[in-house]
Amino acid sequence: MSETVALPRSLAIQLMQEAQKSSEEEVCGLIGHADDAWRVYPVANAAAERSRAFEMDAAGLVAAQRAMRQAGQSLWGIYHSHPHSAATPSAADLAETGYPEAVQIIISLDVRGVLQLRAWRIAGEAARELRLEVRDD
Ligand SMILES: [Zn+2]
Repeated sequence: MSETVALPRSLAIQLMQEAQKSSEEEVCGLIGHADDAWRVYPVANAAAERSRAFEMDAAGLVAAQRAMRQAGQSLWGIYHSHPHSAATPSAADLAETGYPEAVQIIISLDVRGVLQLRAWRIAGEAARELRLEVRDD
């Protein structure tokens, strides 16, 4: 865990709120960044089995990427939630992730009382956990 990523607290809270909107199905989207500005771009989950997988809706993904460009931001990360499992990449997450340069944030709802948020870099079907720091805005 040599690489550290720092997230503003407001962004971490926003990501956890997105995950909590759907207690049974995974939510997903993009995280854009420019200078000190961060923004969450939710994208609909188009997977067949949304309780344990996500697949960003193609049109929604294009729209999110366009909104990010128009906001002058670039892709920093991709987030999704795990309603029923830990915040570790699933076999499908390892096999299907096509953004090796992006930070993968997984939010787990499968915890008692405390939401868990972990950061990964996934490339070549291997995942490396990043040290995630939440800092005050
Ligand atoms: Zn997953």
